[in-house]
Amino acid sequence: MEICIIGAGHVGLVTGACFADLGNQVICVDSDPKKITRLKKGKVSFYEPGLEELVAHNLKQKRLSFTTRIAEGVQKSQVIFIAVGTPPQPDGDADLTAVENVCQEIAQAITRYRLIVEKSTVPVETGKWMRHTLKAFIRKKVPFDVASNPEFLREGSALKDFTHPDRIVIGVESQRARSLLRELYKPFQAPLVMTDLESAELIKHASNAFLATKISFINAVATLCERVGADVEKVALGVGLDHRIGTAFLDAGVGFGGFCLPKDLEAFIRIAEKLGYDFSLLKAVKQINEDQRRGLLQKVERQLWNLKDKKVGILGLAFKPDTDDLRFAPSLEIISSLSKAGAQVRAFDPQAMEAAKGLMNGVTFAKDPYELAKGCDCLVVLTEWNEFKELDFKRLKRLMRQPVVIDGRNLYDAESLRRLGFRYVGVGKGKQKDARS
Ligand code: NAD
Repeated sequence: MEICIIGAGHVGLVTGACFADLGNQVICVDSDPKKITRLKKGKVSFYEPGLEELVAHNLKQKRLSFTTRIAEGVQKSQVIFIAVGTPPQPDGDADLTAVENVCQEIAQAITRYRLIVEKSTVPVETGKWMRHTLKAFIRKKVPFDVASNPEFLREGSALKDFTHPDRIVIGVESQRARSLLRELYKPFQAPLVMTDLESAELIKHASNAFLATKISFINAVATLCERVGADVEKVALGVGLDHRIGTAFLDAGVGFGGFCLPKDLEAFIRIAEKLGYDFSLLKAVKQINEDQRRGLLQKVERQLWNLKDKKVGILGLAFKPDTDDLRFAPSLEIISSLSKAGAQVRAFDPQAMEAAKGLMNGVTFAKDPYELAKGCDCLVVLTEWNEFKELDFKRLKRLMRQPVVIDGRNLYDAESLRRLGFRYVGVGKGKQKDARS
């Protein structure tokens, strides 16, 4: 099948490369000319395991091509996916101007039937607006369909998630659109949820809101654990082994970040409001998430007394492991608050330091965790990278000025670190003592 993907970012490029790998002819369009120039050489401008190799391979096989011109993609393809960004506006609403602009350009380029699919995460009823815009800007009376096919991949495991999804959700309004998408997804072995446009749109927002709710729920339980001396990891296991609940997304920590959960939660609250429903449950989820970040800062303060001129080492900047994505990462807010309080912040991340350099003023960067620890009063873990799991803590202790670890991801065993002489504070791991006790 001939496919066009508009927006060659974390979702669009993965979608394009994976569909091309299945034998489809794919053209990816992006408005960023630098990105397209690099992609034409097989270079990907963000870190996603395996993606650069897949892009290069399919480029070589001539199944994947790149352009900055939407018209070119529309002319060559029967199915057009829109995978542009839908960032939050200051009031939390999803900014859909890129989706609207793309629809206008598609409408102007259409000369034959096309199926336009929303892949970006959008509020319910966006499909209706897309149809309206396409109709308004189309020159001749050309038939088209709009469909919704939300994406559930996770950065860091995007290729596997895309090719082996838990389910494929397709919202359509016509038999023709249904057949085209069914055909395209035929090679995938996953349950297909065929529905109307609005239900498909709601499935995506509801899924992310539910995942965010699980995280905030366990973080609230973690706070109770700290008050009574319980261990949230044991509590989460005991709760999660109930198959109706499940253990996934029950990891207490510094809270969720990234380009999906925070903005989608906010956008879901906003669209509910517009539809006349106060989604107070999700407002509490958001509040708990914000409290987690503040709580972590308080933990640093309780160990170091004053933050002014204290050297704080941040282990991990990306919002999750195996990505260099810093969008809405907890590290941004935490580092900014530490710096404002006068701390000297140094950071190390295996992949995200290049991206961080442009975003974090006054932060210095170390080449590895040991250089990071030199002279530090405290290490703060913000991303659970695999390579942080087996650090040489005896060596770290010798390098640090004060042996303090604030573990925002519960990566380490509290007892082992305490035995080595560290003051260790996790999330929901026993009674929280300050340095004086
Ligand atoms: P991204 O920023 O990585 O990619 C978006 C791309 O669209 C960029 O390359 C940008 O240059 C391009 N673009 C913007 N306006 C354009 C235009 N008018 N014409 C052509 N290209 C344009 O974003 P992303 O992370 O891929 O997210 C895209 C959508 O997918 C969002 O709605 C997001 O919520 C959703 N989503 C993201 C993930 C994820 O893990 N990142 C997962 C599922 C869904």
